Amino acid sequence: MNERDAERLAGGLLNDGWRLAKNPAEADLILVNACSVREKAVNHALGRLRQLFSLTRKRPHLLFGLTGCLAQHLGTEARGMVPRLNLLTGPGAIKRLPVLIKTLHGPDDFAVDLDPAVDLTPDFDPESDYRSAHPAIGPHAAFVTIMEGCDNRCAYCVVPYLRGPEVSRTPEVILAEVEYLTQKGFSEIILLGQNVNSYRSSVYRFPRLLREVSLIPGVRRVRFTTSHPKDLSRELLEVMATGSTICEQLHLPLQSGSDRVLRAMGRGYTAEHYRKLVTQARGLVPGLTLTTDLITGFPGETEEDFRLTLDLVKQIGFDSAFMFKYSPRPGTRAAELPDDVPPETKQQRLVKIIGAVTESAFRRNRELVGEALELVVEGTDRRGEPYGRTRGGKRVKLPGELLRPGRVCVAEITGAGPRSLTGRLVEA
Ligand code: SAH
Ligand code: SF4
Repeated sequence: MNERDAERLAGGLLNDGWRLAKNPAEADLILVNACSVREKAVNHALGRLRQLFSLTRKRPHLLFGLTGCLAQHLGTEARGMVPRLNLLTGPGAIKRLPVLIKTLHGPDDFAVDLDPAVDLTPDFDPESDYRSAHPAIGPHAAFVTIMEGCDNRCAYCVVPYLRGPEVSRTPEVILAEVEYLTQKGFSEIILLGQNVNSYRSSVYRFPRLLREVSLIPGVRRVRFTTSHPKDLSRELLEVMATGSTICEQLHLPLQSGSDRVLRAMGRGYTAEHYRKLVTQARGLVPGLTLTTDLITGFPGETEEDFRLTLDLVKQIGFDSAFMFKYSPRPGTRAAELPDDVPPETKQQRLVKIIGAVTESAFRRNRELVGEALELVVEGTDRRGEPYGRTRGGKRVKLPGELLRPGRVCVAEITGAGPRSLTGRLVEA
């Protein structure tokens, strides 16, 4: 979601006559667009701004901006945390940024827009050109935001406070954006929302929207993220099962396998509900790639709670996961609770859970060896070797092949690791 915001920021500035610098040392303006969902990301973003400040020795006129949900979170206090800040804008201000920048005339000036009101109207060109030149994934894939904000109140999460209440873009705007992108040559569409399953606009719910997006001529693959387990419906799984362009991939954040912790987190489902959902999803969508998010060390998490999580994670067998140590975020309900799991315990639990996910990911990848899978080439790695992605979202290295990004091919899977597969081209 943050990457998509960065694309929109860049698109708006390009539209206004700015050009992208090849590297920060050649820039007149540096924007750091950052997330504040976890403390680690906050420190990383502020550290980066401080480090970039050294460029002012050669370029004293350089302007610095902090944008996105971190800017919203820190407010004007951010000015005291970095040597210089000329611009501070939240996620709602993306479209207003070019105008705001015009009020900056020198390094002593400062402009701020933390108004959370988001603009849901279309913003296509020249973003598609920007996306083609600087693909987030590959030249064929584009993110499409379907909703902003979140109406849930997971106890640990700062998103609803920084990105505001949930608002859905209209189906007309979304479908027109997808049609436009396909005309520009994008064939893979990734629909974005904090909780796509609560999308609602007029008579549309998410399953219908997904189906209509998947039927647009020129669309070869559709993915979406994120699905909240409390709102995932059978109807959505049926749409996934029958839509030929809808990829067999589901990101379904579990967070914890202990009902007590899930209740304290305010997630609105039990471990058993989650387990049943997975059985249902795997039954309806054969070959499904299932990924998740997990938190270790939420306040009050006991060894027994953690064991329940570890057991469930092993039992389900995820294809991969984003795993985090809990960090208290100011303003959230959990921040009121004592952060009582010691850092070493959080870390040990994280290591264990990473071990369990790595094991199941490796096992599930090995099962694909020998299969012929459709790939879209996304780019080349550091060694110059191309890699592609399966419909399930798995990365496949294609050593020795000459393939340009965007190319569709079929590869036989010849090897598997926990994080990626290796393949050999069988059909161009
Ligand atoms: N809307 C998405 C999640 C967005 S945040 C959803 O509901 O699934 C992405 C992930 O960051 C969350 O799923 C959670 O695992 C993690 N996260 C959020 N707040 C956190 C915190 N305070 N400490 C640790 N991890 C956190
Ligand atoms: Fe945060 Fe929960 Fe909303 Fe996801 S659903 S953004 S975790 S409050």
